[in-house]
Amino acid sequence: MIARRAAGVVCVLLALAPAAAAAPPLPPNELGRVMILEYHKIDRPEERWTRTPENFRRDLETLYARGYRLLALNDLLDGRIALPAGTTPVVLTFDDSSPGQFRYLERNGTLEIDPQSGVGILEAFIKDHPDFGRAATFYVLPGASRPNRLWDQPEHAGRKLQWLVARGYEIGNHTLWHANLGQYGEATVRGQVARAQEWIQRHVPAYRPRTLALPHGVYPKDVRWVLSGTVDGITYRHDAVLMVAGGAAPSPFARTFDPVRLPRIQAVERDLAFWLTYFDRHLEERFVSDGDPGAVTIPAGRRDRLRTPLPAGLRVVER
Ligand SMILES: [Zn+2]
Repeated sequence: MIARRAAGVVCVLLALAPAAAAAPPLPPNELGRVMILEYHKIDRPEERWTRTPENFRRDLETLYARGYRLLALNDLLDGRIALPAGTTPVVLTFDDSSPGQFRYLERNGTLEIDPQSGVGILEAFIKDHPDFGRAATFYVLPGASRPNRLWDQPEHAGRKLQWLVARGYEIGNHTLWHANLGQYGEATVRGQVARAQEWIQRHVPAYRPRTLALPHGVYPKDVRWVLSGTVDGITYRHDAVLMVAGGAAPSPFARTFDPVRLPRIQAVERDLAFWLTYFDRHLEERFVSDGDPGAVTIPAGRRDRLRTPLPAGLRVVER
């Protein structure tokens, strides 16, 4: 009897399988919020500022399974969201250029990326899941003391920066040696920012860092000091300034989007779990792509929440 009943259940499930297997796609909402995740060390053991290689890999798996796809920060700033319909952008950032983020190993005279380092894990995951996208921003410290000076392999520092840029990753400004910008006057603040860019450009001459992450999350007395300027012939210009906390960022199309105060989520167990659950429970707040980079699809009646003007060339669609 039990067997027959069980068999009957199996038949019913099989009959329902094609419809049940495909969860209804999330409706597009390009006014929803976006997570900008902030990693520090990729190393062992797991600590306040450290994610283990295993946990970092698990983060990527979790994000992928829940419909998140990688978006470059610069594309977010430009409102260029070229992701499949029904998926949600997520931005990865890595602060402080600690060794576990990007390490080369020498084997039989050739260099290879350590598969246990952040970049190695990310590249392996992307290879297995090409539709995850490839994007991350590295807020490096070119003039810090060991071990945070450009991932602590001085002989490979240039190669790493060049590799990242060639691969489509972004380099961001995090000051020369992690200066607390609230403690200094204008000349020092501008010097920290300009010199960091100068050091980066020694290795990747044509590359312009477009964003700055504030060391310790501390703003200088006048934010304009870090937005643009020229010091000894080094001209810098930042399109966004990132904080160290603050939660999910507003949509780049929202009136509340302020690139000078971009919040981030620290990629630690508790905060990640909180925000993933939050967006599961508040689907209406989650950015969901419409699959069309030329259109901004928003819920009906919400035009007043759009930022004006929108990035050039975009049309608005109400659903
Ligand atoms: Zn930092």
